[in-house]
Amino acid sequence: MAEKKVLKREFFCGEIREQHIGHVVSVYGWVNTMRELGGLTFIDLRDREGLLQIVINETFSGLETLKHIGKETVLAVSGRVVERAKANLDLPSGRVEVIAESIEILAISEVPPFVPENRSHVSEELRFKYRYIDLRNLAMQQNFKLRSKVNLLARNFLDKEGFLDIETPMLTNATPEGARDYLVPSRIYKGKMFALPQSPQQFKQLLMVAGFERYFQITRCFRDEDLRADRQPEFTQIDIEMSFAEHDELFAIIEQLVREIFALRGHHVVLPFRRLPYREAMEKYGSDKPDLRIPYQIRDFSAEAGTWNSDLLNGALASGAKVKGLVIPDAASFSRKQLDEINETGKKLGGKGVIWMKKSDDGFKASLKIAAETIAAFYNKREIDSGALVLLVADSEAPALSLAGKLREFLGKKFQEKNKLEFLWVTDFPLFFYNEEEKRLDSNHHPFTAPSPEDIPLLDSQPLAVKAIAYDLVLNGVEIGGGSKRIHDIAMQKKVFQMLNLVDKEIEEKFGFFLNALKFGAPPHLGIALGFDRLLMLLTGEDSIREIIAFPKTTSSLCLLTGSPAAVSQRQLDELGIAIKK
Ligand code: ASP
Repeated sequence: MAEKKVLKREFFCGEIREQHIGHVVSVYGWVNTMRELGGLTFIDLRDREGLLQIVINETFSGLETLKHIGKETVLAVSGRVVERAKANLDLPSGRVEVIAESIEILAISEVPPFVPENRSHVSEELRFKYRYIDLRNLAMQQNFKLRSKVNLLARNFLDKEGFLDIETPMLTNATPEGARDYLVPSRIYKGKMFALPQSPQQFKQLLMVAGFERYFQITRCFRDEDLRADRQPEFTQIDIEMSFAEHDELFAIIEQLVREIFALRGHHVVLPFRRLPYREAMEKYGSDKPDLRIPYQIRDFSAEAGTWNSDLLNGALASGAKVKGLVIPDAASFSRKQLDEINETGKKLGGKGVIWMKKSDDGFKASLKIAAETIAAFYNKREIDSGALVLLVADSEAPALSLAGKLREFLGKKFQEKNKLEFLWVTDFPLFFYNEEEKRLDSNHHPFTAPSPEDIPLLDSQPLAVKAIAYDLVLNGVEIGGGSKRIHDIAMQKKVFQMLNLVDKEIEEKFGFFLNALKFGAPPHLGIALGFDRLLMLLTGEDSIREIIAFPKTTSSLCLLTGSPAAVSQRQLDELGIAIKK
């Protein structure tokens, strides 16, 4: 069918513009759509940069064959660029079209299970099974172009700052980051297993002991845990470690990096980021990753609640409860049905119920028996606008804050503009939390995190009150990074292991190599890891990290494309010395 051989490709379809008018160009791409009109045949040819209209005249030799090709057929087209009689301004290349002079069919396509432009109407199962078609969608192609650019920007930025890109093993020992390990059985040492790294934590610290001073790696981490929209069993981190620095210096580097990354999408990120100690974050937002786009905080109304003559509240207060409240702007018009729904949501979120107060046309009201004048006086004293809805939860402090925090986020959805970026450092996390299931202390971050020097005297007497030099970077309610100053003193590291209920034998087996390194001149060091996928999710405005990972797993940890995880042959199992329990 080719009238003349297609020339070497100089342009992508989506790049052809008015300045190419009059030129003969060659393009390659996939048939997005094809239609006939007034004797002419029009093809929208698509490549990674966009669409280009190809016009085929009635007299084109081979036209009959072309009429039978389907969508997603791959073509090479040469032809002259001309101005379109009627521009399509929805398309960047919409002012021009190419009059085909030669067309070569490079690969035909069977009728695809769906076409890329319709991906949003297709189930995730089908999209993941045919991910290569799903990825042909132009928005997806943009996501991965951006991902590549961010990757390169981060590398160049960190190189400029003196960080060395050093790879660390994938086949290794367990790294305690709080998830289950993915294990890889050893063929040579039967019964022994490697673990895939939950993070390069211990290796990056060893690189500090090795004297590299500044390390980074854009690396894959593996955690076997329940998946959510922002979690995948394997994910990518920008992993960073530096010696002889304090967190102010690290924060400044990360802020600059993040600013440059967001500038790729035209955002102007204001520096420095806000900082909020963990305790304050919990008190004001009931969350250690608050979404600061929501314009209201949690307030404590315990003192007033005691004066409202409510048996229910008085009883709760007498047994040590706190009354925490949210003042939702412009929400006094919420209907009874909406308020009932909020109460139900509160219960589903694990609370006992949600009390409301508001001003209606016929005066102040509440879901509890509280006099209208009392409510009016309360609104007045606490300077609450009469158009605002007040929601109250009464419980012991931690659950009350947690429920109020969840309600804050739930009701704050309408304030969550995608284009607004609210960055925040949450600092001073507690070093430990109490693991109810295992009845022991557990690390909030990981066991290599250093306690705040002023809290070291509390380690034995009040371990749960000890703060860590640990920080998370939060953007719009999503944790996009976390790190800490590390323990570089062997005695302190041993003590923390012991506080986590590890016995000496276990410490030696699991971490002996690491403790050994602390004997030979370990410099003070600290670090952080940024969630590369989550960053990209927020940068592209996607709702799930699956949209910016080329070949993701489903929420039930399956790869629908390859069918993994899959059974293996008896021979492989025998080689590994493994028997599968039925
Ligand atoms: N290893 C930590 C993590 O993966 C990050 C760090 O402390 O640098 O969350």
